Amino acid sequence: MNEQHLRRAIALAAEAREGGNPPFGSLLVSPDGSVLAEERNSTITDEDISAHPELKLARWAARSLDAATAAGTTMYTSCEPCGMCAGALARSGIGRVVFALSGDQLNGLKTSGGFPAVPTDGPHLYDEAKMPVEGYYP
Ligand SMILES: [Zn+2]
Repeated sequence: MNEQHLRRAIALAAEAREGGNPPFGSLLVSPDGSVLAEERNSTITDEDISAHPELKLARWAARSLDAATAAGTTMYTSCEPCGMCAGALARSGIGRVVFALSGDQLNGLKTSGGFPAVPTDGPHLYDEAKMPVEGYYP
């Protein structure tokens, strides 16, 4: 864990807030310690609910880095990634995530609750739904 990189993530979170967005920031660091990319939350100014810095960096890494390079990177982020970002990070090939605030610590700092889960209903129609999937994955 590198405190300098984690402090940069916290500074990016402050910059996001100063820019009118929720206070979250992240950076992606190579094994030699060089910063590859930085992002701030921009969900308000971009009018995009998915504009979390972790998700933006996960997408950047998947597009821009080969698998071996991505696997060697570490994301430093001001807060533990949410469920949406955790899913994207798992698909991105990024090697490791280091966070400052935990999700529980964040919730302790909020006066309002989190996002309610959307009710789901399934599984259904297995025989039909499996048809386009069978054989796709090796
Ligand atoms: Zn997120």
